[in-house]
Amino acid sequence: MAADPVTIARDLLRCPSVTPQEGGALTVLEKILGAAGFTVYRVVFSEPGTDDIENLYARIGTAGPHLVLAGHTDVVPPGDEVRWRHPPFAGEITNGVLFGRGAVDMKGAIACNLAAVLDHLSANGGKPKGSISFLITGDEEGVAVNGTMKLLQWAAARGEKFDHCILGEPTNPKELGDMVKIGRRGSLNGTLIVTGTEGHVAYPALADNPVRRIVAIMAAVMAEPLDTGSAHFDPSNLEFTSVDVGNKTVNVIPPEARGRFNIRFNDRHTQGSLKALIEARAHAAAQGGHFRIEWEPSNAHVFLTKPGPFVDMVSGAIAAVTGRQPELSTSGGTSDARFIKDYCPVVEFGLVNASMHKIDECVATGDLVTLTAVYRRILDRYFV
Ligand SMILES: [Zn+2]
Repeated sequence: MAADPVTIARDLLRCPSVTPQEGGALTVLEKILGAAGFTVYRVVFSEPGTDDIENLYARIGTAGPHLVLAGHTDVVPPGDEVRWRHPPFAGEITNGVLFGRGAVDMKGAIACNLAAVLDHLSANGGKPKGSISFLITGDEEGVAVNGTMKLLQWAAARGEKFDHCILGEPTNPKELGDMVKIGRRGSLNGTLIVTGTEGHVAYPALADNPVRRIVAIMAAVMAEPLDTGSAHFDPSNLEFTSVDVGNKTVNVIPPEARGRFNIRFNDRHTQGSLKALIEARAHAAAQGGHFRIEWEPSNAHVFLTKPGPFVDMVSGAIAAVTGRQPELSTSGGTSDARFIKDYCPVVEFGLVNASMHKIDECVATGDLVTLTAVYRRILDRYFV
């Protein structure tokens, strides 16, 4: 009998695994994977100032190729539970729709991965022609300090080597088959701090107003595009998210003004090249006036998994099952793929993302069945 992704998804949704709580979700996976012959490791990572986080790594097979299926069982908080049509951790199904926090982001996809693997194994005498691993973290929606990054380091220290990875984040805007993510933009935060000299507003010559200068610098920084995009990426973009002086009076020129900004950048830039570009523009506009930019540390580097046989195989499997040719995209926010890409090529394909992080997050049970068929086809083609 075929493994049922809907039952597995329900069992996972009934675990209240809001970051940093494990909530029983990894235990659900451990039981199923253990029964299927996987060697399962539960790994806890700690770091001062953050919560301890449980993670799971499971492998079956010893030979290559080695395909790793990655994901996270933690979920964002449900918000106002009264506003949910069905309780967020009940796993209720109405009219073919399964409701619950994590339905699409991304317990549903983990259930599909698992069901597909169980079916693939039972069709192949219980063993893959290579190795299959699950790399599941409980720290993706939180600060992501004790999650995938450390789990990858832990696995590498044990001698684990991965050939390819599928990450089941929800990638489709409207329907299954819309979109595969083959990369992600980088992200960088900074604060522009302009200092001047305070004084009476009626005597501007005796003061140096930082508001005038921050306006000029901001305009210069935003005036020209950062680039024109590249083969697989939209143009890089800078957005100011807050501009602050904090002045409570009307007759005092303030001593300092601040502007916070975020940059989402493509593969025509690195963090270093962006910093140099922004600082050069700011320097020219400041005309000798005082300013500085404080850059926050970022582990969100840009990456691209170049189209080739692996991407083609995944797209082909999606097209064969859904009848739709997926767009190869690098849009959206960052994901744990930014860590995985340092170990092996990674592509992302999961459920429809329309309801993620919202009240009444839900997934059509038919989508779970279809996504399972996509993953199954990928496994069958990968292990030929
Ligand atoms: Zn997610």
